[in-house]
Amino acid sequence: MQESQSPIIGIDLGTSNSAVTWFSEQKPTLISHTRHERLLPSVVGIDDNGHLLIGEPAKARLVSHPHLTVASFKRYMGTDKIFTLGSQQFRAEELSAIILRKLKLDAEIEIGCTVTQAVITVPAYFNDTQRKAVKAAGQMAGLTVERLLNEPTAAALAYGIADAKEQKFLVFDLGGGTFDVSLIDMFDGVIEVRASSGDTWLGGDDFTEAIRQWMISRYPELAADNATLSSTLTQQAEDLKRQLSSVSVAKVKLVHAGNEYYWELDEQTLHECCNGLLSKLKKPVIQALSDAKFDIGQLDHIILVGGATRMPLIRQLVTRMFNRFPRNELNPDEVVALGAAVQAGLVAEDRALDDIVLTDVMPYSLGISIARRNGDRIDTGFFSPLIERNSFVPVSVMQIFSTMNDNQRQLDIEVYQGESRKVSDNLLLDKMSITVPARKAGEVSVEVRFTYTLDGILEVECKVIGQETAWTMVIEKTPNTLNKEEIAQRLKALDNLKQHPRDIPENRQLSAEAAKRYEQTLGEERQVIDYYANQFELALEKQDLRSIVSAKNELRRVLDQFKDRF
Ligand code: ADP
Ligand code: MG
Repeated sequence: MQESQSPIIGIDLGTSNSAVTWFSEQKPTLISHTRHERLLPSVVGIDDNGHLLIGEPAKARLVSHPHLTVASFKRYMGTDKIFTLGSQQFRAEELSAIILRKLKLDAEIEIGCTVTQAVITVPAYFNDTQRKAVKAAGQMAGLTVERLLNEPTAAALAYGIADAKEQKFLVFDLGGGTFDVSLIDMFDGVIEVRASSGDTWLGGDDFTEAIRQWMISRYPELAADNATLSSTLTQQAEDLKRQLSSVSVAKVKLVHAGNEYYWELDEQTLHECCNGLLSKLKKPVIQALSDAKFDIGQLDHIILVGGATRMPLIRQLVTRMFNRFPRNELNPDEVVALGAAVQAGLVAEDRALDDIVLTDVMPYSLGISIARRNGDRIDTGFFSPLIERNSFVPVSVMQIFSTMNDNQRQLDIEVYQGESRKVSDNLLLDKMSITVPARKAGEVSVEVRFTYTLDGILEVECKVIGQETAWTMVIEKTPNTLNKEEIAQRLKALDNLKQHPRDIPENRQLSAEAAKRYEQTLGEERQVIDYYANQFELALEKQDLRSIVSAKNELRRVLDQFKDRF
């Protein structure tokens, strides 16, 4: 990479974790956001002084400060939902922008130059509004989004470059909050996504919640309406779940209100409490196979993506479902970010990737509302899809429609996205009215053309047959996305949320960890933690680097002694 040319970074903006990559020395490379962590938790918080906390230090406070911390906001991209953190309010786009800005900065530090362009991945099921929200978030973070890439496509890219033979893949992506199944066809260096399906409300977090419910069923008194206790239990459930990915019996213990609680979870019990979730994973797989007209036998590989596929339970399910072992050479929670780097390399037309061409599919159907004549009656509100789900993009489709009434002068073209027969169950994207000459019903015909680009922009063109005039609309604005001025305004507001020099993430993280340990311990241990945490805070207050370093090392040493016990 030449110095004068700023690289394009790849970003996996995940529900639970985000990661940043770049294409360096002919290969996708992960950028670590601190010295130890490879993934940045997608968690944003505000400290008691109104300063921002991002990633691990924010996540550490989910337990102690649930009202000042927000996670899983990606679920609300493109909606009007407002998150209140202390005295400040945020939309999901802005919280995402905060994460993206942090990743941009981490990349700049590691690469050593300013970064302004990115490829960002999105779940295949994200609709138009959600995709625009991701673009707006990128813009707020100071990034031009060169391409939005479907997450499963990214995973295929990460695996694809290593092995360019003719292959068919199924990508099984179970993250924190989303489930995506995609079928991918690869031949002569061409990658085609043939079908995608999924569930935007199913992920590893649901397994954690199922475990938490099981924990409460063992000690019903812990069901009390107490936010701190509830998130402590979630954290413990998460711990149990992760332990079970490497040992066969997981153990946690909790001290609450002077009582000690203890849990031992084995694979069998986990299986029982997650049965409902496991069966929910099957439907999208069947749907995708049927949409792509693929048989299980035609698949060469099953690729596991998403942190939750580290669970042996999920691996067994997938193995049984497909009657073979899935591929998992790459870390499942890094694979999407690595694929984004491959795409970034493609966008930059890196010569190492000259041979790879990428095609993609529409994740949902697009069409218009039509009326039908049933005898004497005209029934309205039926969906007539022009571009069907899983068509290759870019795509351009034309269909002809006719008038329903005699002397009708106007035709309303309403554009919907969705899969339902009735438009009322689909999402209205935009509408326009066109003027038509007054004739008998059915004598005026109109050509409607839908053109959908790789960036997810839909152009609708209408023309009355036999006439010159054409009406077009480009569907870029959607009700829940911010316009340019609003973005500029929020950008300014975000700029005022700079981190205080004292708030170096590692220091914040350490303080938060100490606070958490303090809550979990009792008696003398508690006093020891309190003493060293206090020394550390005093040092931070004085802003004397030497004493900060020594106080930090001492506190670290003390906390490490307790590490294995929680
Ligand atoms: P997302 O793409 O939604 O951001 P990730 O791919 O990072 O999510 O996966 C996050 C999920 O993976 C979480 O639900 C987390 O609990 C789960 N997870 C991460 N590591 C493990 C592990 N070792 N065992 C089981 N689950 C894990
Ligand atoms: Mg993911």
